Amino acid sequence: MRCVILLGPPGAGKGTQAEMLSEEECLEHISSGAIFRENLKNQTELGKLAATYINNGELVPDDVTIAMVRDRLSAITSESGFLLDGFPRTRTQAEALKDVLQEFDENLRVVAIYIKVPSQELISRLTGRLTCRAEGHIFHTKYNPPKIEGRCDHDGSELYQRDDDKPETVKKRIQVYLEQTIPVIDYYQNQALLVEVDGNQSVEEVSAAIRSALKV
Ligand code: ADP
Ligand code: ADP
Repeated sequence: MRCVILLGPPGAGKGTQAEMLSEEECLEHISSGAIFRENLKNQTELGKLAATYINNGELVPDDVTIAMVRDRLSAITSESGFLLDGFPRTRTQAEALKDVLQEFDENLRVVAIYIKVPSQELISRLTGRLTCRAEGHIFHTKYNPPKIEGRCDHDGSELYQRDDDKPETVKKRIQVYLEQTIPVIDYYQNQALLVEVDGNQSVEEVSAAIRSALKV
């Protein structure tokens, strides 16, 4: 069984790569951001609590996020394993994840893939991102436009711009990433679990680089 952790700044391409990789490798795709957005849509208590943080570009508190992901991990059914997209984002979350993973098979193979993209590129990626209402499929107005304007290629549902993809919030999220998530990259580097991939190339090239990193 395998646990693949995708790390990188907002806009690095984690969700895009996770969509493809989870399908190819039969890994369950666990996106903390997507779970929060689903809760928001359904107006659950968790969704209401998370909303203010998400809309301000801040991280949802660790205790809430860790409990949510712990819950999701207890429901894993794929024997191939799972792919974490957007979690962990703080050192505390990374330490909590380590504890949870200890409850899995002792043969669980953990690898953290750091998709590195320069900050100036992130703004245009995020402000042009289009997200599908039904399933969260990801597009971009210029870099990955849908076949039919405003409609998801996969399920035909409406594409929308996330509130937190507006320029003011994007800047805040990048700043939060630099302050709180860079330490997570160091954390995996120190445990020799980190592989760095150049995210500043085409979606296909990034995907090939990730696949070759996973083979070693
Ligand atoms: P993250 O999950 O890391 O925030 P996404 O996968 O949502 O990133 O990608 C952010 C935006 O950039 C999306 O609009 C996506 O279509 C686009 N994108 C993803 N990967 C690339 C790439 N390699 N080159 C150009 N645009 C990309
Ligand atoms: P991105 O695609 O830019 O990486 P996500 O969809 O992963 O964004 O996350 C959107 C928002 O959800 C974050 O800005 C944050 O408010 C919240 N969030 C997602 N994952 C976490 C996490 N692991 N810890 C705290 N907050 C999170």
